[in-house]
Amino acid sequence: MNVHLIKSDNVNDELYLQVAELLKSVGGPIQFHCSSAYESYFNYEELIPKKISDPQMFEKKEMHAISLNRAENYLERSFPMERREAPWDILFRECNIYRKLNRIKENDFVFLLTATPNDMNWFASLEFKNPCNGFIHCGDWDYYIQCPECFPISYEIIALILQKNIFNNVTDIRTAAHNRPIGCVSDLCLNKTEIILKLRTADICESCLELIGSKMSILEINQCMHILNMLRERMLFVTNRKNYLKASRLKLDGKKIILHDYSDIELRFRPLEIILYRLFLNHPEGIYLHNLADYNNELFEHYSEISGSESVNDMRTRVNDLTDALGESASQKISRIKRVFEESIGKELAQRYIIKGPNGAAKKIDLDRSLVLN
Ligand SMILES: [Zn+2]
Repeated sequence: MNVHLIKSDNVNDELYLQVAELLKSVGGPIQFHCSSAYESYFNYEELIPKKISDPQMFEKKEMHAISLNRAENYLERSFPMERREAPWDILFRECNIYRKLNRIKENDFVFLLTATPNDMNWFASLEFKNPCNGFIHCGDWDYYIQCPECFPISYEIIALILQKNIFNNVTDIRTAAHNRPIGCVSDLCLNKTEIILKLRTADICESCLELIGSKMSILEINQCMHILNMLRERMLFVTNRKNYLKASRLKLDGKKIILHDYSDIELRFRPLEIILYRLFLNHPEGIYLHNLADYNNELFEHYSEISGSESVNDMRTRVNDLTDALGESASQKISRIKRVFEESIGKELAQRYIIKGPNGAAKKIDLDRSLVLN
């Protein structure tokens, strides 16, 4: 089974790659394909202007008659809110264009990730005509749940794959899906706030599982369940830090960092980021950024261990750029490392693991080094 993920220009690359990484982190027969070079975009005129007057409207799927006479302030969003929304056929049109251009097989999935809201206000849906097409709305998640949006978006992708195989067609989803939320991937969540239960349980109920059994292989079902579980653990982890106040042991594994005591969460970095992190880990006393060039040999040694096919000269150049006291390279990488930690384990716990220090002072990692595994 192949699942092609495409995005519209308003979804940032970082989010797109995070979602792809999460989905690809569990092996199995379902292959996820990304196409970073391809982007769709919508004509402003094709989108429908809509005014959303109050939070209750915002929280409901299928907002039809919207009254314009109540204006209220709500926590994170202020209403009334005006925005342009895409009709569903425009979203699916993008899937079909991609299908044609790339000669995608009929039974392969093509899912569009877009930050453009849709006129029915759904998080995600399959197409009526061709249920191998689907969209996932990548915006508004912060209004409903407090965790990085890559988790619920990845969840919705798996939910669409399962729904295609649970129900005979999309009309069925509307009628046979669970109206009353029970924490199953087939919960309809007519009120969008109900999504929280579904994400917290990340489960498939017995009767849905029975229906899938005849259409997906055991390995495919297993892979989906495995991904859902992983997403659930990581979402709960980020939103429920209190249970994990102890610092976790940390292991460096190639370009990955694994936090053993935090359900083996894997953090993935780019080569230059991981060698920079390793350098700071090796120097608990801290390092001044303007002195980074003094550590060129050490960085180069780490780099040659993980770099695949690059020539010695190329590697030298990259390390030199990284340690250039006049450049921004090192501080940009330190910021990204911080972001990856924060998105994986929450801001508070991340403090122990990030490279930090006041401006002009030496930067260091606080972590008790006895927790670093070799
Ligand atoms: Zn169910």
